[in-house]
Amino acid sequence: MQITGKTKIVGVIGDPIEHSCSPQMHNAAFEQLNMNYVYVAFHVKAKDLKAAVDGFKALNIVGINVTIPHKQSVIPLVDRLSREAELIGAINTLVFKEGEIEGHNTDARGFIAAMKEEGVNTLCGKSVVVLGAGGSARAIVVSLALEGVKKISIANRTASKAIQLASDISQKTGTEIHSMGLDDKSLPEAVSESSLLVNTASASMNLEHPLLINEDWLHRQLVVYDIIYNPPETRLLKVAKEKGLKTIGGIGMLVHQGAIAFDLWTGQYPPVDTMRRALINALGL
Ligand code: NAP
Repeated sequence: MQITGKTKIVGVIGDPIEHSCSPQMHNAAFEQLNMNYVYVAFHVKAKDLKAAVDGFKALNIVGINVTIPHKQSVIPLVDRLSREAELIGAINTLVFKEGEIEGHNTDARGFIAAMKEEGVNTLCGKSVVVLGAGGSARAIVVSLALEGVKKISIANRTASKAIQLASDISQKTGTEIHSMGLDDKSLPEAVSESSLLVNTASASMNLEHPLLINEDWLHRQLVVYDIIYNPPETRLLKVAKEKGLKTIGGIGMLVHQGAIAFDLWTGQYPPVDTMRRALINALGL
């Protein structure tokens, strides 16, 4: 990669940010496509967010990914929000265009794109169980509602958070969304009538952590999607695979949310296999 007077800049802001693998993932794609862009990580503290966004605008930066802790606080700083970002209430991608700032959330479409890449093509009219009710669950519940899923059941350790998420997104989208604690008696039935089980609970990062659901509930028609990407094969995925179920890990979602941002900035969909290889390499997996 050669930096010239014409090099365009994209990047990511967060606090902390040094752990981000997005620079390796995006720069690998720019290099393969021979595009004169560079992707850099900026460590931006909460108190400096507005100054940073104003600075990006003044410097003609093309686009910025936004990560913790700025995904919500950046909302008042943009001129326009995509439908997904508005429904999710969080931004992960800024696009600087003709003096204006667009706020997008590519997690929702990234989640669906990774599933389609694995051959799971339609969820319309189906039922889905989502474990967890944090930031990523919010994006996923929105994506499922926009895909036309018939019924979503959200089960979370803290039931009150599942209740709040279900009520908010069902009001905004009209989708039937149920909520419960992980020990709720209706959870086994919700899993039995579902064709997709999505785990978003970070407990799954720990291979020693017991499964959040009873493994006997995993039935042959169920696709099991764990968005945790490190480790790439969680305990839930391992058990599901041993039972012969279709499984999907979290790396694809991470790659596709980045690829969709890349496309928003450059108008070109990047080579996702190159991005995936760079990501796996950067994560040391
Ligand atoms: P978050 O907002 O902090 O939410 C964490 C969720 O995990 C909450 O629902 C929490 O339940 C649950 N949880 C944590 N520890 C638990 C335990 N011991 N038992 C049961 N539930 C537990 O985090 P997030 O942003 O949603 O991210 C969650 C995970 O998804 C992270 O590991 C992240 O790396 C991964 N992720 C992957 C992608 C991707 O592209 N593949 C994208 C985004 C996030 P409570 O509400 O009860 O605390």
